[in-house]
Amino acid sequence: MLIAKTIAEVRAAVAKLRGDKKCIGLVPTMGALHEGHLSLVRAAKAHCSAVVVTIFVNPTQFGPKEDFAKYPRTLDADCALLEKEAVDVVFGPDAAEIYPPGASAVVEVAGISDRLDGVSRPGHFVGVATVVAKLFNIVQPDHAFFGQKDAAQVAVLRRMVRDLHFNLELIVCPIVREPDGVAMSSRNRYLSADERQQALVLHRALRRVEAEIAAGVVESQPLIDAGFAVLADEPEIRVDYFSIVDPNTLEDVPDVTAGALVAVAAAVGLTRLIDNVLIPPR
Ligand code: AMP
Repeated sequence: MLIAKTIAEVRAAVAKLRGDKKCIGLVPTMGALHEGHLSLVRAAKAHCSAVVVTIFVNPTQFGPKEDFAKYPRTLDADCALLEKEAVDVVFGPDAAEIYPPGASAVVEVAGISDRLDGVSRPGHFVGVATVVAKLFNIVQPDHAFFGQKDAAQVAVLRRMVRDLHFNLELIVCPIVREPDGVAMSSRNRYLSADERQQALVLHRALRRVEAEIAAGVVESQPLIDAGFAVLADEPEIRVDYFSIVDPNTLEDVPDVTAGALVAVAAAVGLTRLIDNVLIPPR
């Protein structure tokens, strides 16, 4: 497994793979890898004959009061996990490699970037779209793998790929959960034992909505009310949103008949967690 720090190194490695007629799969991550990330790597291994994983804590997607400085950085452990998965190339650049002094070009996927997480994290999705566009240009993969866990990110990136004609296929993989239902996240390691218990309520609220839908409720408002009623079990968490939206546009939908994304974000202690469930068309 090659570990590349510079754009020149990763480009040379990818050129060699291309010379060997390999199909390239890209898995962008911020590191602190867990089974959720590894599920993307395994999907990439299954679809593609060569896999490139990027590990880059992207400064531009963090707000000034967010956790950029304390975000977990575990490069050695991450590389050991990726070696076991037989990944071909890990790209772990410094910030200055990706954002050279004076870099000012950004990618803004207008409109959709201001919904869901974009409301309370202004500028977040410009940072995400910009870094992912850079990684696409650097690696030029055939397929790129993302987790449904970050459903709004998926919607923004799908739109970016479509609108800017990136010549690749985006593949979205299901949410990997802990045995008790909590969605795996690098940020879960911030949680105290009490907070970890409180975090369960996000998944519980989503499950309640699924149960209501299974019982025949289709209008969004009573479903949202049912979700909030469950979230109220944990008065210490601060709900950012609990929304029912079109998974492609992230706009609110009045009912779930045509399929919908039920998405929640909440601060548990100082840690912001997100989770969601996709409702298939009825
Ligand atoms: P991150 O390192 O948090 O930027 O995540 C890198 C990729 O892993 C993103 O595409 C995430 O959606 C995906 N991911 C993170 N957690 C999970 C999870 N629990 N299940 C599936 N994919 C995940």
